[in-house]
Amino acid sequence: MKEIRFENVYKSYGKTEVVKGLHLTIKEGERLILLGPSGCGKSTTLRMIAGLEDITSGNLYMNGRKVNDVPSGKRDVAMVFQNYALYPHMNVVDNITYGLRVQKVPKEEMKARLHAALDMLKLKGYENRLPKDLSGGQRQRVALARAVVKKSDYFLLDEPLSNLDAQLRVSARKELVKIHELYKQTIVYVTHDQIEAMTVGNRIALMHEGKLQMLDTPENVYHRPANIFTAKFIGSPPTNVLDVDYQNDTVLIGKQPFQLNQMWVKQIDQSGADRLVFGIRPEHLEIFKTAEENALQGTVKYVENLGSGYGDLCRFTRS
Ligand code: ADP
Ligand code: MG
Repeated sequence: MKEIRFENVYKSYGKTEVVKGLHLTIKEGERLILLGPSGCGKSTTLRMIAGLEDITSGNLYMNGRKVNDVPSGKRDVAMVFQNYALYPHMNVVDNITYGLRVQKVPKEEMKARLHAALDMLKLKGYENRLPKDLSGGQRQRVALARAVVKKSDYFLLDEPLSNLDAQLRVSARKELVKIHELYKQTIVYVTHDQIEAMTVGNRIALMHEGKLQMLDTPENVYHRPANIFTAKFIGSPPTNVLDVDYQNDTVLIGKQPFQLNQMWVKQIDQSGADRLVFGIRPEHLEIFKTAEENALQGTVKYVENLGSGYGDLCRFTRS
């Protein structure tokens, strides 16, 4: 099985722990997104899989084999970095095939892989250009092609699209998913962008301060966040989260009572919790101009035009 398994993995630089007790299994052939704010340990985690960083303690398994001490070159990984580092003096073809030439892949096989990659990543016609004569998007596609032709079992990507403009990013995301549907590698994709995570991922592993917060499908991460960090991180604008008092079936939001529906009341009563945090996504609020039963009163203080609508932008103010 081309799965990847972290077993209680810690990583420290000197006295600073940056990955703290990671348990995570990445399934064979899935697109797993490592998501989280800048500095939470995503790249470090990815680089441990690639064999570019030592593991401080714990174990890492790939394909059922412990790889803690297996060098990068023996792990069958292809990697794409944010700063894709093409060889400036080599043209597109040489950049893409460099690794294959080092591996002494037979000429015919190399040609076939090259042409498939040029085709898929829309690089036909650019074969002889040097990186300096390509746009950012084209360079990024060369970096993707260079990784794709390796036909590795594991495809590791670290913020691969963050240098592209918004439009290119959308089309590159689609290309990536297409590549994956063809080759079915095990993909680990690092990003801090939740939209990218939602659109590319089969599952999302959300990290914060070196710890895994939630591991689940994009749907569940959005609809059933495991904790407050997840609820606030996913969604834009973020979920409103308020500490509230709760009595019988009613919470107090500011000074306003708000009656909860029975499904929630049951769950809260069963949990025996004495402290309650109330979360609601902006997109689930509806604004009425006149008073409604069991509605909250508030003032719209700020409206942002998103083009497709304004509705997502009302926020609770405590009144
Ligand atoms: P992310 O990719 O999620 O932004 P990183 O994995 O790159 O985060 O980094 C996690 C933390 O580890 C950061 O606080 C970063 O400063 C620190 N870090 C990363 N590499 C090193 C290093 N070589 N030496 C010391 N600290 C590092
Ligand atoms: Mg990073």
